[in-house]
Amino acid sequence: MQKQITVTRSSMPDYKQYCKEIKELWKTHWLTNMGKKHKQFQKELEKFCNVPHIVLYTNGHLALENIIIAMNLKKGGEIITTPFTFVSTTHAIVRTGFKPVFCDINATDYTIDVKKIEKLITKKTVAIVPVHVYGNICNIEAIEKIAKKYKLKVIYDAAHTFGETYKGISTANFGDASIFSFHATKVFNTIEGGAVCFSNDKLVQVLNDMKNFGFRNSESVVYIGGNAKMNEFQAIMGICNLKLLKQEIKKRKKVFQYYRERLQNIKGIKLCEEQKNVEYNYGYFPVLFDDYKYTRDEIFEKLKAKSIMTRKYFYPLISDLECYKNLPMVKKHKTPVAKYISERILTLPLYADLSLRDVNKICDIILK
Ligand SMILES: *Cc1c(COP(=O)(O)O)cnc(C)c1O
Repeated sequence: MQKQITVTRSSMPDYKQYCKEIKELWKTHWLTNMGKKHKQFQKELEKFCNVPHIVLYTNGHLALENIIIAMNLKKGGEIITTPFTFVSTTHAIVRTGFKPVFCDINATDYTIDVKKIEKLITKKTVAIVPVHVYGNICNIEAIEKIAKKYKLKVIYDAAHTFGETYKGISTANFGDASIFSFHATKVFNTIEGGAVCFSNDKLVQVLNDMKNFGFRNSESVVYIGGNAKMNEFQAIMGICNLKLLKQEIKKRKKVFQYYRERLQNIKGIKLCEEQKNVEYNYGYFPVLFDDYKYTRDEIFEKLKAKSIMTRKYFYPLISDLECYKNLPMVKKHKTPVAKYISERILTLPLYADLSLRDVNKICDIILK
């Protein structure tokens, strides 16, 4: 049996260190509901991201749903987003009662094509939910300009960007709010977890109430909230992993740069250009097979035959999924660039401890 190379591998702290941190819980028996570790982790994150407020969640998806609700947008309104993302982005929009309007992406960094946003704005548009895909940062300045002009809220799905900065500022600070995911597959994890980041003081209480059934205090329920609290074990995982983050990103960068070295300037293979002013977290290595001697699907199968797992990330496009493809709004707005990219893109294995030997092997298979 060949050793399998997975597409990702969760970062974990030293076992003894984690045990040491959780030991206290056996004394306090306080396991969730805004415990001591929850508060400590929240403070550490606010400091790390240099952002006024962070509210922690049990996952990134519920963080996104909650902030969409908390924005108090006109019910049933349209939200402009892209179909080239993880299903969570669109699901959060629809599950909170809004209509997704798909804008195309640009062919260079795969984020929302800002030149195509204005055409999609109608009287019913209430917000824009752009995605920093693969850690590539959206055109923040252009989006802000449009949002101001039409009085729209902007919520960034920043799930891929924890630890990144643009012009020296953490991606927690853009738009009216940004959300992170701390899922096991992300660069930084709390097993499952997520956060909403923002500067508006008024949102702190709203979000904290909403994630706890709408309780303001033990006798007063002010919202029809759900349950989305981060527990103490998750928070401790975060506290431990946060200490490792710099080192993990450094290791990832090495792997990333070696991939680049081996795969750049090859006919039919297109890599993302590195954006200016961005400090990356090196979360993903997407490769576009565009008129290469093999198709994306052939490369996927060739690697799989050698026990190397890659992901057709993001394929299929959200607008082509069973649950969305027949919606009138989806049928109306075509996104040809997103379609083109989604049919040709493959993300290669990338994690901190992936050996350069394995990267070599992967590149050899692709190139030969
Ligand atoms: C991971 C991810 C989410 C959802 O986060 P969870 O923590 O898994 O709920 C949302 N959007 C994007 C783009 C993601 O990659």
